[in-house]
Amino acid sequence: MQVPSHYPLHGQPHHHQQQPVTDVSQKQLERSYRDTHVQLNEFEIFRTVGTGSFGRVRLVRHKMTGVYYAMKVLKKAHVVRAKQVEHVNSERRILAECDCPFIVYMLGTCQDRTNLYFFMEYVVGGELFTYLRRYHRFPPPVAKFYAAEVLLALEYMHARNIIWRDTKPENILLDSRGHVKLTDMGFAKKVLDRTWTLCGTPDYLAPEVIQAKGYGRSVDWWALGILIFEMIAGYPPFYDEDHYRLYEKILAGRIQWPPQFDAVSRDLVSRLLTADLSRRLGNLHRGSADIKEHRWFAEVDWNRLAAREIPAPLIPPQKVAGDTSNFDKYPETSETYGDYTSEDPYADLFLEF
Ligand code: AMP
Repeated sequence: MQVPSHYPLHGQPHHHQQQPVTDVSQKQLERSYRDTHVQLNEFEIFRTVGTGSFGRVRLVRHKMTGVYYAMKVLKKAHVVRAKQVEHVNSERRILAECDCPFIVYMLGTCQDRTNLYFFMEYVVGGELFTYLRRYHRFPPPVAKFYAAEVLLALEYMHARNIIWRDTKPENILLDSRGHVKLTDMGFAKKVLDRTWTLCGTPDYLAPEVIQAKGYGRSVDWWALGILIFEMIAGYPPFYDEDHYRLYEKILAGRIQWPPQFDAVSRDLVSRLLTADLSRRLGNLHRGSADIKEHRWFAEVDWNRLAAREIPAPLIPPQKVAGDTSNFDKYPETSETYGDYTSEDPYADLFLEF
């Protein structure tokens, strides 16, 4: 598998191209009646493919259809102790609402006495993070492809007043054709005005989050700037082991540009990494259109990109359905899933699961 350095974003359509959805209203109608409740015993459970701050994600197979899914398991006691009840309920609501080719699709959820379970489409290519560490950095056209697909996912969420707040290469997965699927809506939030919670990943935090000012979708455009920098440079623009010093660096906003950046990419990234919200690209009255029309994205055909007609730069290897070779190995735990034997002490907290 090679990373091409010349990579046309207006390339010829793929053979296996997905048809764009034409009858949106019909699809939305069906979706509003979509039952997002499933049962644990409908699935066979296989190995762990990822761990997050509140639980693990395992490969599972739906017994009747044979389709593979990712099952994210969250321990209720842990969620409660970490004061994440509201975030987890919001994660469920947001995943159920999102029907976007660049965001992981949720089949449904359920719960038992101990755990909450999310069943999502299984994204076989694994994390963008893995590829970025393997190749150290991406040639700018490759970084541009991923940045552009992430931008469309952010635009989709923002149109529904959802802020993602968790951009980072670990949460950007690649599907079997190499297209982007965002996962982890644990920090995503529906916000009409502003919000104040300090959350996200330290290197990706915008100054307004660190300064505990009320903030909105602007934080996702800052994080897109960090992501583009990290993909091109191979490391994030602001870094320190110590969070306090890291936050000082973010607030100071001084960026050292490695030679991979030309004037155009530098211009885009510095406009995204602008602390002044009245000047940050994406946060002005034209919204994301300003980013899409920036010269760095000049060769992107946004309509074809949205239809996933632009062939991806990396096609993840996949030998069989349910292949887990693109994921790291994790020590397994012997947990019991499906314990309904005694009363659930958290019965009233997760009513939508
Ligand atoms: P999360 O707790 O949602 O951040 O997930 C932790 C990790 O599990 C991610 O970084 C991925 O490596 C993996 N993962 C999450 N969702 C999926 C999915 N739908 N398909 C495949 N792997 C996933």
